[in-house]
Parts: sequence; structure tokens; C-alpha cells
Amino acid sequence: MTDTSGPAADREQRARRTAERFREVYGAAPAGVWAAPGRVNLIGEHTDYNDGFVMPLALPHTTLAAAAPRADGVLRVHSGDGGGNGRIAELRPAALRPASGGGWADYPAGIAWALREAGLPVGGADLHYDSTVPVGAGLSSSAALEVVTALALDELYGLGLTRQRLARLAQRAENAFVGVPCGIMDQTAAACCTDGHALFLDTRDLVQRQVPFDLAGAGLRLLVVDTRVRHELGDGAYAQRRAMCERGARALGVHALRDVPYAHLPAALDGLAAERGGPDADGPDVRAAVRHVVTENRRVEDVIAHLDAGEPRAIGPLLTAGHASLRDDFRVSCAELDLAVEAAGAAGALGARMTGGGFGGSAVVLVEEAAADTVAGRITEAFAAAGHAAPRIFPAVPSAGARRLL
Ligand code: ADP
Ligand code: MG
Repeated sequence: MTDTSGPAADREQRARRTAERFREVYGAAPAGVWAAPGRVNLIGEHTDYNDGFVMPLALPHTTLAAAAPRADGVLRVHSGDGGGNGRIAELRPAALRPASGGGWADYPAGIAWALREAGLPVGGADLHYDSTVPVGAGLSSSAALEVVTALALDELYGLGLTRQRLARLAQRAENAFVGVPCGIMDQTAAACCTDGHALFLDTRDLVQRQVPFDLAGAGLRLLVVDTRVRHELGDGAYAQRRAMCERGARALGVHALRDVPYAHLPAALDGLAAERGGPDADGPDVRAAVRHVVTENRRVEDVIAHLDAGEPRAIGPLLTAGHASLRDDFRVSCAELDLAVEAAGAAGALGARMTGGGFGGSAVVLVEEAAADTVAGRITEAFAAAGHAAPRIFPAVPSAGARRLL
């Protein structure tokens, strides 16, 4: 007998609904339905533009794309999630130019542009999206949208892209077409993660390893706390951090901060004593930026060692130390993220940290399964007491990367 209950059946039902909605929007059936997930980064923050280490995992939340090829080369996109106010955007890839300011449609348009720029024989398509990835929460709805689009076009046109190449093309779309200077982590997570694993990625040589992360088996839970705030320090603050990192690397005579071994950190910091602060009074100075990146790479290695040794609880203090580094040295946290981490710790969590770029977005909290509801409740209470809007809290179950559903 076929089991028609449970998550697998729910997923299939959602895929069918997305296909049905495609038919309503475009008047014909799609050729397929694809999915790509949002992600949280377990550890390794602001390291990916320093040739460093990251360790994201895919969320069960996904962006679905129902798609059909078009013979005329035109790309039509429609989102059920508010993008474009429910209207179809029609794009002619030959006329696409970077930074066209077209709003949400720039993401799928950027994918078509990047594939064409790479000389790949991609044609037109109709696409309809349906997403459960929270948008703008630091959980990478943008990479989910890019990667699901790239995978759908890859399969519709038989492009034969590897997952790594697909991720690099999606990053190029976001960097060069949409105009967001992100690293390679988000797209790689959406494209390459697997069920029950965190993905270790060396962003220098793009070597990756699936690291088993069986939270349920260990009686643990990883909570995502979406603070629902986004402080618009925006591109300037990010650029300032990147600039400090580049200055540090130059002053130390290395290609990237990845090349500073942890054991050499004290000497490196001594050598930087004469380096003055940055252009932004609120940002880190060079030494603090270097200290964050070098210690953060080390924390990634330590987390992997604990997970490989079957000691998932031991990663808790590393998460919390990572938060302190992001808050005090790199200065990318904010009151809401600090409060989430502090309240989690006070309620008995094993560890917690902000995740993603910072200045809002989400935190991750590692807890004993039995304590999860209590810890979540305490965080919510702390937010209410501080006068913040209620956070959205849900478990991060390590899930599969992009795939075809129908
Ligand atoms: P994050 O990636 O952290 O969610 P970003 O600001 O990088 O935040 O990307 C969010 C943007 O991506 C949205 O403003 C929108 O333009 C686009 N986007 C993401 N998912 C969708 C979707 N399902 N439908 C339409 N647009 C989307
Ligand atoms: Mg994004």
C-alpha cells in the first residue's frame, strides 16, 4: 500500500499544486517542477570572501519552480509570493543588461543572462515560483530562487551542468547581474546540500565534504530564530568589512586572510598594531577584522572535528564564541540578534549565534530536544519584554539541496 501521509506526500502535493498554478497562469502544463532550499550557516561567517571555510545546511523550506520551455527565446516569470504583484514579467534574454533594476525578476533574468554569457545553449521558458523560504530573513531566498531557476533551465535544455558549476553561475548572476557582492556559500548550499548533513565548503578551491549532522539521532534540535528585523546598513557596512579584510591581507603579505594560520595570529596582530581603523567609525578596525576571520576559520575546523568524533553537543560553545566574535570584533550583530543569543544561553541552550550577513536576519540555537520549547518560549518572552516584535522560531532540519520533484 502506498503511504500518502507524512512529509513526502506533503511535498508531492505541494509540487502538484505548483504545477496546477502554472497551468492557470500560462494556460498549459509545465514540463517539470524543481525545488531548491533556503539555508542556514552553522558556522563560518564572513569567511567566504576571505577564501575561508563555511558550513551551511539546507532547510526544509524550498522555492519551487514549475517550468516549460519556449521556442521563441523569451523568458516569462511569475511568482506566487508577492514578487511583481502577481504579474507575469516578460524578458528577452538577448536584450538583458546587468543592473537593469527590474526588481525580483532580476534574479531569474540574471540566471538566463549568466548561462548565455557562459556560451550555454539555453532557450526561453515560462516559469512559475512558489516558495516557503522566508524572504529577507538571511536564509537565502535569493539563492533558492537563482538555483531553482538554473536547475530548471539546465534540465529543460540538457545543459549538463555539474552542481558546482551551477552554483558558480548562480553566484555570477547575483554578483554581476543583480549587483549583490555575495560569496559562493549560498548558491553552493542550495545546489549541493544533502539530507542529514552540513556541507563543509572550502571557498578557496571549492572542495566540499558532506559532514553527517544527525540532530534528531543525537536528541538535539537546531532552532532558527528569525528576528524579522533587517537594519538597513546595507552595502556600505558589508563593503567596509570586506575592505578591512583586504587591508589586513595586504598588510600581512598574504593573498587572503585564509592564509594566516591560527597559530600565527598573535604575531599577525602584533604586526598590525600600527594599522589604523577603517573609514567607518562603527565598523571593525583591521586587527579586529583579522582576528574574527582567523578565529572563525579555526572554529569551523573545530566544529567538524567534534561532529566527526560524534560529539555534536561539543559544538555549542563554538557557536557562542562565534557570536561573540561577530558582535565584538567584526561588529555585524544587532540588539535583536544579541538578545536572541543571550536569552537562549540563559534558558539553557548548548550554544547560539547569529547566522548570515548580520544587522538583523536570523540566529541559530542548539538545544536539547526536550528543552527546545522552553528555550523558544524564553526567547519570545525576552523579545516581548524588550519591546521587539515576536520572532519566528522553527527547527532547522538538515535537508536536501536542489532537485527535480515532478
Ligand atoms: P535573502 O536571500 O536573505 O532572503 P535577499 O535580499 O538576498 O534576502 O533576497 C530577497 C529578494 O529575492 C526578494 O526581495 C526578492 O526580490 C527575491 N525573491 C526571493 N524569493 C522570491 C520569490 N519566491 N518570489 C519572488 N521574489 C523572490
Ligand atoms: Mg540573499
